[in-house]
Amino acid sequence: MSRLDDLKKTAVDEIESRRDQLIELSLRIHANPETAFQETKAAGWLTDYLEAEDFAVERGICQIDTAFRASYGSGRPRVAFIAEYDALPGIGHGCGHNIIATAALGAAIATRAVVSEVGGTALVIGTPAEEAAGGKVFMASRGAFDDLDVAMLVHPANRDVAVTYALACLELDVQYFGRAAHAAARPEAGVNALDALVIAYNSVNALRQHIRDSARIHGIITDGGQAVNVVPEHAAAAFLLRAEDDDYLEELREKVLACFRAGAEATGARLEYHWGEETRYRAMRSNRALAEAYRRNMEALGHQVQEYDSHRSMGSTDMGNVSALVPAIHPTVGIAPPDVVIHTREFRDVAASEAGHRGLLDSAKAMAMTAADVLLDAELRRRIEEEFRGGG
Ligand SMILES: [Zn+2]
Ligand SMILES: [Zn+2]
Repeated sequence: MSRLDDLKKTAVDEIESRRDQLIELSLRIHANPETAFQETKAAGWLTDYLEAEDFAVERGICQIDTAFRASYGSGRPRVAFIAEYDALPGIGHGCGHNIIATAALGAAIATRAVVSEVGGTALVIGTPAEEAAGGKVFMASRGAFDDLDVAMLVHPANRDVAVTYALACLELDVQYFGRAAHAAARPEAGVNALDALVIAYNSVNALRQHIRDSARIHGIITDGGQAVNVVPEHAAAAFLLRAEDDDYLEELREKVLACFRAGAEATGARLEYHWGEETRYRAMRSNRALAEAYRRNMEALGHQVQEYDSHRSMGSTDMGNVSALVPAIHPTVGIAPPDVVIHTREFRDVAASEAGHRGLLDSAKAMAMTAADVLLDAELRRRIEEEFRGGG
């Protein structure tokens, strides 16, 4: 057996020996669902556990109470396991983040043995509020993912996929300012802000026919006037623009803005708009070299892993912002049958089942094995880095 295989076996054995503890922790987080930025119990249990295992723990990093960093070892390479632990309002852990958090912790603890042998650092970075607010978006801009060599997160899902996609996502808030007037007695004195918005809304509908299949533009009208007998002097809307890559999102941004300008031009209402740069999700750029290493390890554990996500049905994830800064992967592990979709009560129940436990243990093992690959294999590190620099 090679030294690498030897270390991988040690890591896998470590996770196996903690099987009951890890499952208990996952179930405890599952039974105590906490929503965005309220994850004090989960963050507390995770950091206490890691601290007891000799990790250096920093709590409340990036000015977020429930964010944390735990590290073991020193120097490069720095391998980070990303933990999510927020739940959905009303549904609980319908996205299975209890599994993500516990797998990250298990992988990091198992990687200690490798780090002790060959050097480098194993980290768990605790990232709150994936569902509601995109905690990693803020953490990325506050330096949480600087100075890492790779970052990994495995998400429970319906099947095993190594390379996943997620859309870049940018919010647009618009307002039109017109002039109020009596809608029947003096309509000619009014400037109709709602008309401006309706023209823009319809222009966006026309635009949608001529954009890439994977791009999305969707919005709601949040203010359409106050009284039916007054020409609306104010109208407002919120839109989201999504695209498979950040460049195309830039292209879309200009086209969408032209639609809103058309509404202003046609009616004389004044347009004000705000792009949500501070909450912008970047597209997920899975590092293929790293994903391939992960896929081989997961297959060695008996999983059938698809190389790419053929469905490409996607939302957005704040892990995209991590992938813009550091070579990263966001594979999925199959725990539920195809008809049980995430963000449902049925998926929540699976996340606490035997299948969920298996997904947790195997994704922890596969991540630890992949960490061993990264820590020992300089050639793999070179390929990961080259792909990342080349723009992937
Ligand atoms: Zn989710
Ligand atoms: Zn999720």
